[in-house]
Amino acid sequence: MKSIAENIAQLRQIIPPSVKLIAVSKTKTAEEILQAYHAGQRAFGENYVQEYCGKAELLPRDIEWHFIGHLQSNKVKYIAPSVHWIHAVDSMKLLREVQKEASKNKRIINVLLQVHIAREESKFGFAPDELNNFAQSLNSSEFPNVRICGLMGMASFTEEMDQVREEFRTLHRLFKQLKETVFRQSADFTELSMGMSGDWPAAVEEGSTMVRIGSAIFGHR
Ligand SMILES: *Cc1c(COP(=O)(O)O)cnc(C)c1O
Repeated sequence: MKSIAENIAQLRQIIPPSVKLIAVSKTKTAEEILQAYHAGQRAFGENYVQEYCGKAELLPRDIEWHFIGHLQSNKVKYIAPSVHWIHAVDSMKLLREVQKEASKNKRIINVLLQVHIAREESKFGFAPDELNNFAQSLNSSEFPNVRICGLMGMASFTEEMDQVREEFRTLHRLFKQLKETVFRQSADFTELSMGMSGDWPAAVEEGSTMVRIGSAIFGHR
């Protein structure tokens, strides 16, 4: 088995430099994160609030933390002092809470709107047809401490790559639509977070700007 550092070096060679590699370190130890850090990795993704807070406190200050998991509004306060990106915003309630806590901490937090593109049932993420209404209802003056930077999605958990690719394509289409309409005045709306260990090459081909890769770096969880 390859080391964490070797996995990172290899991924860096094949992922285009314009695509950000986020090392998904959920369930992994601070020690393992440091191995990636010493290989030059700075962007890390976490899913669980308590686990994230413990690690953020312990690990180097120049890590760029991405909270990629489902986030309950009442937990935003715990991550707001340190988090840089929140990938899975899927309600006005959550967005308002991010604004409130970012403001309290005198910070600006980058967020992505999560869209439900997979075939599997899920409570999380906007349905594609809800997304436009939500985006139109946003009043940017209400969110001075939040940067809405783009969209995030997860494809179906399947070996059928045609299906997966079609879902990534759908997300890219939604992203372009919003970028040309609701967000046409925004310089921030530039990111499309899609692709994980099993499907990132297809995601990159379909326009991803951020890949979230866990097991291909750290091994199986
Ligand atoms: C766990 C997780 C990943 C990484 O998954 P791997 O298959 O281990 O690369 C990416 N995105 C989200 C939202 C996750 O929860």
